Amino acid sequence: MLRVENLHKKFGDLHVLKGVNLKVEKGEVVVLIGPSGSGKSTLLRCINRLEEPTSGRIFLDDEEITSDRVDINRIRQRIGMVFQQFNLFPHLTAIENITLAPIKVKRMDKEEAYRIGMRLLEKVGLRDKANYYPHQLSGGQQQRVAIARALAMNPEVMLFDEVTSALDPELVKEVLEVMRELAREGMTMLVVTHEMGFAREVGDRVIFMDHGVIVEEGAPEEIFSNPREERTRRFLRMIL
Ligand code: ADP
Ligand code: MG
Repeated sequence: MLRVENLHKKFGDLHVLKGVNLKVEKGEVVVLIGPSGSGKSTLLRCINRLEEPTSGRIFLDDEEITSDRVDINRIRQRIGMVFQQFNLFPHLTAIENITLAPIKVKRMDKEEAYRIGMRLLEKVGLRDKANYYPHQLSGGQQQRVAIARALAMNPEVMLFDEVTSALDPELVKEVLEVMRELAREGMTMLVVTHEMGFAREVGDRVIFMDHGVIVEEGAPEEIFSNPREERTRRFLRMIL
């Protein structure tokens, strides 16, 4: 479904991604782990075309999304992304946050967008909070609205970048539960997280990245119980 080929990204002299190759199959949940600064966010941002790769190619199905001719808005409809900082529009209610892009970008009629939005709020357990503004919601609730907002575009792939890292510990579970449910429904997901329990239970594959390269990948069991590379072992010792 998603294929990254020899991806490089430089910021000036800083070589952040140094030839990343990656495949995510349809319905697969791939968990990306690695030290801070290793290039995880940059990789996700390149996939969503928030960053311009320096070289290399990215394919969604058989379409090259790194091509100059591609419509970036259409790519962002097909690839949803959720961030550590929820990035909700503060002056819009939960339901307005969710329906904005379907109405503006997809030109969906308002009633239909609202109907879909309410169904998504229900899915993330927030039907009763539709008319609340972000500042009236907890961090976990805001993040669940952000997930619903991404889903409203009916994406084929979802990218999650440390979506629970800014949350108080007691709010992490409710967000992971929504992600777990999405995975169960067969959503294709690429997830950057430090939640190793989630990686073990939900991940089909774990990828360890360091200094802009993929050091090791495998089934969660393999990576956590029997990592082959010393760098992986050192990282896991530090976080587990
Ligand atoms: P991670 O998500 O694994 O912590 P990032 O992808 O955020 O890593 O960052 C990798 C490196 O790229 C870091 O050294 C970071 O400072 C640098 N970097 C990220 N974005 C930019 C940018 N827009 N301009 C310059 N440097 C950047
Ligand atoms: Mg990051």
